[in-house]
Amino acid sequence: MAETRQPDITRDVVVSGMRPTGALHLGHYHGVVRHWIELQQKHTCYFFVADWHALTTNYNEVESIAQDSWNMVVDWLALGVNPEKACLFIQSHIQEHAELHVLLSMLTPLSWLERMPSYKDQQIRLKDKDLSTYGFLGYPLLMSADVLVYGAHWVPVGEDQLAHLELSRELARRFNDIYGRSEEDNKQARRALKKLESQEIRQRWEELVHRYRQQGAPEIYEQAQNLLTRQKNLSPEQRQLLFTTLSGSGRAILQPPQGIVNKAAKMPGLDGQKMSKSYGNTISLREPIPAVEKKLRSMPTDPARVRRNDPGEPQKCPVWSLHKIYSNEATLSWVDEGCRSAEIGCIDCKGPLISAIKSELSTIQGAIDDWSSQADVVQKIIDRGNEQAREAAQATIKEVRRAMGLRTNARQIT
Ligand code: SF4
Repeated sequence: MAETRQPDITRDVVVSGMRPTGALHLGHYHGVVRHWIELQQKHTCYFFVADWHALTTNYNEVESIAQDSWNMVVDWLALGVNPEKACLFIQSHIQEHAELHVLLSMLTPLSWLERMPSYKDQQIRLKDKDLSTYGFLGYPLLMSADVLVYGAHWVPVGEDQLAHLELSRELARRFNDIYGRSEEDNKQARRALKKLESQEIRQRWEELVHRYRQQGAPEIYEQAQNLLTRQKNLSPEQRQLLFTTLSGSGRAILQPPQGIVNKAAKMPGLDGQKMSKSYGNTISLREPIPAVEKKLRSMPTDPARVRRNDPGEPQKCPVWSLHKIYSNEATLSWVDEGCRSAEIGCIDCKGPLISAIKSELSTIQGAIDDWSSQADVVQKIIDRGNEQAREAAQATIKEVRRAMGLRTNARQIT
């Protein structure tokens, strides 16, 4: 392993993290880590253990965070995340995430956080947790800080995280608009404002800008855009300048990231829903193989197949969903035809699937054992990743502090 490896600054930056809230399962592997392994080939990747995020929903369950964080890094390495290609680190070791979170909180309208779909959904879904905390309300803001602090160009997202990505983008634009405009830009904008048709229109424009900054609602953005379009006295440059006041396109101090949606099929769990610890339908990476086999043998099938000779419908069967991940075309046709014609029974059908999953898990568990026996090497990978991440994050924080007027060196003041 090389001693030092600097990120390639000519490549796009990808940032992604995972909460250490228990054992990784096959859903993490197929749904997230396989995507990371592809991304690390082409991009400068920062993959982190999101231990602060674990506290946002479980602040009173801290006993296993350190062990889960360690196991998570070991599991990533065992699955093929390559520390020579990606920077692996622990979020709470990089205090710049927290600093950017605090600084962004100064300009984040409360309504932007309150309208996050996850805020209400999780309060309904996780009734046994105390989610009436600022940490929980503010976790999407912390997520924004996590990616903005590295100038991420790309963030791998599932469809349920698009709202969080959009928040990061809006925050970056808002920050750039407030702190990234020169005095000359502001002077020109004031001149352009005077060209609006009447005092009443000017007031209306200012009210829309103010409301958009408070609420960020798309309909306000549209109303403001329409108002500017109707102004005949503005030159195209002036219209554009005023428009940037709204859209936040001052000098880009913070980079608005784009999402990369993972096209791979979602990994189904043992009941056909998405594999997730909260549904109790997972196969953990470290689970003993005989226990996994038992789970697979007893997993539900198409309820229409009550007797061996009842024909079935694969689309209604969770076993079929797993076959689509693990089986080749020939096996898929064998299952599809055999199920519909009742030529095969469900026990026959599960056979190749059980073999494929057992073989995958046994390779993964071998690699986990291997990495677990090299604790010093894993620790060095984490230390080096922390150092590298800190260096990258400090460069952004320096700019942010400067832009927000936070200077400690008296010589910088003049
Ligand atoms: S034969 Fe296979 S696909 Fe059909 S119901 Fe049984 S387990 Fe499901």
